[in-house]
Amino acid sequence: MQQVKVAGLNPIESADFYYLRHYYFYKMTEKNLNKPNSDIPSQIVMSGIRPTGMVHLGNYFGAIRNYVKMQDAFECYFMVADLHSLTTHPDTKELKSNVRRVLAENIACGLDPEKATFYCQSHIRETGELYLYLNMLAYKGELEKTVTFKDKARQHPENVNAGLLTYPVLQTADIIMHRASYVPVGKDQEQHLEMARNFVVRFNHRYGEIFPEPHAFNYNQELIKVPGLDGTGKMSKSENNMATLYFADEDDMIRKKVMKALTDQGPTEKNAQKPDYIENIFMLMKLVCEEDVISKYEDDFNNCSIRYGDLKKQLAEDMVKFMAPIRQKTNDILANDAYLVEVMEKGAQKAGESAKKTMDLVRNAIGLNYF
Ligand code: ADP
Repeated sequence: MQQVKVAGLNPIESADFYYLRHYYFYKMTEKNLNKPNSDIPSQIVMSGIRPTGMVHLGNYFGAIRNYVKMQDAFECYFMVADLHSLTTHPDTKELKSNVRRVLAENIACGLDPEKATFYCQSHIRETGELYLYLNMLAYKGELEKTVTFKDKARQHPENVNAGLLTYPVLQTADIIMHRASYVPVGKDQEQHLEMARNFVVRFNHRYGEIFPEPHAFNYNQELIKVPGLDGTGKMSKSENNMATLYFADEDDMIRKKVMKALTDQGPTEKNAQKPDYIENIFMLMKLVCEEDVISKYEDDFNNCSIRYGDLKKQLAEDMVKFMAPIRQKTNDILANDAYLVEVMEKGAQKAGESAKKTMDLVRNAIGLNYF
């Protein structure tokens, strides 16, 4: 089956939306011409975010920014992945408040529950059933090779559970529950999406063409990884706290974290190559600073006059300018619990309808219809 390279396109603004929709419609139509089932949808988007802590800059630029753009152009399903969080966070004392926080933070970032279906994973009971069928199509060897599984097993040797091993299977169930084709995610999810395509190809091959192949998606060509401020790893909800900028951080905490970012004495040769940790800081500037500010510091770096203290002060102020309004909006949304409950209920109803339709197709395709 031909693979559509979604992440390699550059469809940024509205003209590109037009192009993207028609490109995929054309691709899916082209594929379906030779397939028995021409009913595979091509305009559906699905993604999720775990309630394992506070939403951070990496979640925003890797995922949520794309949710906000895509909700105007596609049928979108976004969820709070509470079941996924149980694989690494078995203690559920804070789950209820974390779920609300993640809902509020996504909405404060621009996700509109009137445009997209926004729901909690555990409210869609069909997911467990689809996960079970997909588990028969996933092999132990490939699951054990997954980079995120190996990382998590290394970090938490006391809790290497089967849920962690089959995390990409559950993720596939979530995506294909709505027969989605595009999955806006950060770079860390690339391998999971490759696995999702494999499971889908196996399902379609064994039981009939029901599902489109899902692809990781980012509007800016490559999938991105927002690095931690300490020069290692990525920003993350539950690890690397001082190296991660959370939308819940107060202004002074944002300044403190940015000022502590790893730098050095500056280059001693003109036009030197930037070390990774300096490259990371420039990458963060590109996310929130004006172009002229970035090019000034690029020039300063290239002629060895860069002052990292000044650069970090500027970056800190631009971060505060970008992040503080989202924090304030989040707090307003969190103060209105009835609204959040309504969002969850409406989301569960809409996502539930979609799930029921898919599961009818799945049970029929597998042959679990005896009368
Ligand atoms: P976390 O790793 O912070 O717990 P999740 O696993 O809930 O985040 O991922 C939610 C979304 O955010 C995913 O699409 C993931 O790829 C994206 N994401 C998480 N961290 C980063 C990062 N540092 N840079 C880019 N995207 C990220």
